[in-house]
Amino acid sequence: MSGRDRVLIAGGGPVGFTLALCLARRGIPVTLFEAGDKIFDDPRAGTIHPPTLELFDGIGAAQAMIARGLVVPNYQYRDRRLGVIADFDLGSLRDDTRYPFRLMLEQHKLCFLLRDLLKDYPNAEVLMRHRVTGAEQDAQGVLAHVETPDGARIFHGLYMAGCDGGRSQVRKSMKVPFEGFTYAERFLVLSTRFDFGAAGYAWTNYIADPEQWCALFRVPGEDGLGMWRVVFPTDAAAAPEGILDEANAQRLIQGFHPKAGDYAIAHKNLYDVHQRVASRYRAGRLLIAGDAAHINNPLGGMGMNFGLHDAFNLADKTCRVFDGESEDLFDLYDRQRRTVAQEFLQRQTIDNKRNIEQKDETARRAFHDELRAIAADPAALRAYLLRVAMIEGLRRANSIV
Ligand SMILES: Cc1cc2nc3c(=O)[nH]c(=O)nc-3n(C[C@H](O)[C@H](O)[C@H](O)COP(=O)(O)OP(=O)(O)OC[C@H]3O[C@@H](n4cnc5c(N)ncnc54)[C@H](O)[C@@H]3O)c2cc1C
Repeated sequence: MSGRDRVLIAGGGPVGFTLALCLARRGIPVTLFEAGDKIFDDPRAGTIHPPTLELFDGIGAAQAMIARGLVVPNYQYRDRRLGVIADFDLGSLRDDTRYPFRLMLEQHKLCFLLRDLLKDYPNAEVLMRHRVTGAEQDAQGVLAHVETPDGARIFHGLYMAGCDGGRSQVRKSMKVPFEGFTYAERFLVLSTRFDFGAAGYAWTNYIADPEQWCALFRVPGEDGLGMWRVVFPTDAAAAPEGILDEANAQRLIQGFHPKAGDYAIAHKNLYDVHQRVASRYRAGRLLIAGDAAHINNPLGGMGMNFGLHDAFNLADKTCRVFDGESEDLFDLYDRQRRTVAQEFLQRQTIDNKRNIEQKDETARRAFHDELRAIAADPAALRAYLLRVAMIEGLRRANSIV
């Protein structure tokens, strides 16, 4: 299928599949190109925040997500030496959301679910092993240059959305700078079945330390029986082989939580960490969303959620343009989503990292005191959770005209 009536989507990650499903449900023809031959299943995002579940509720996917995920009613902020600093009860948001919890669901499982739901729509096609190599536009529409198993081809569409991740080819075709910085650190993610819950940890924990902070989460795992992920910072100058070495992994995880015998480590993954936002999300008929538009460190579990909020927003604007409203709506998409990426996503995730690694004793104590005071005061707790559960950012975006 190829034609001037279609929306082309580059990238079969969570954001691309969400956008495709939202459009397909509204009868808009979509073609999604995914470079890989399968959905990637490396351990990345696992946290779904309340407003994201509400958005998925609107397209009939929330209950299936909850059935496949782990409901996490509270999370802990800890200090590696002092123990629990504050325990945050997401139930405090029960008047603000139908989903006052975090849902842990690995992002590839969300992609599988969305891809399955898309199969009900004959107006949607998903083309695996199709890598977008460039995008152009003219007065009538867009032309996507795509490397396919049968050679290079050109696909036509009316609009094109780049949901093709941090190295987005669509963003490069739009010639849009990706402004920000890269940390001089990589994050190591270790997965183990060891039951940290039995040792008193919540299913989500942020554990501050001036030398070796970490974050600890329980996700469903491939069999649904539970897998714990531990995230550590590592020196970006160190050789990846040394960081991923089994002895080094054991040293890190034993240093955090000593136990008799080695941990059985199921996966080790190393990631670069960036804070960047594209300087525009729209160039004519070309648009970007998700990691193609903004990337950030994973502390707070916000990156994918934010990209999913982009997808719902862009889908709404696209449907309205198909219904005859002005293409200026795409500029509103850019204003709404890019503003909150700067004001909210970047600021919050940079703060999260600075606080968890804080080396200054006075600043660290002050932050601990602030968290304790928030957890003890219902009004302050609600205000805090509205921000970190991403409700405030979504409301702010929708208020921009
Ligand atoms: C360790 C780690 C932990 C994280 N934890 C969280 C978390 O708990 N919560 C959270 O919200 N976020 C988290 N994130 C961030 C999250 O993983 C990303 O924000 C999310 O994957 C972005 O989704 P996306 O669909 O925009 O891009 P991606 O998931 O990167 O998907 C892009 C897709 O496009 C495809 N593609 C790329 N180039 C092309 C091309 N030229 N043509 C066709 N296809 C192409 C790729 O193969 C890929 O399938 C984490 C990230 C990391 C690294």
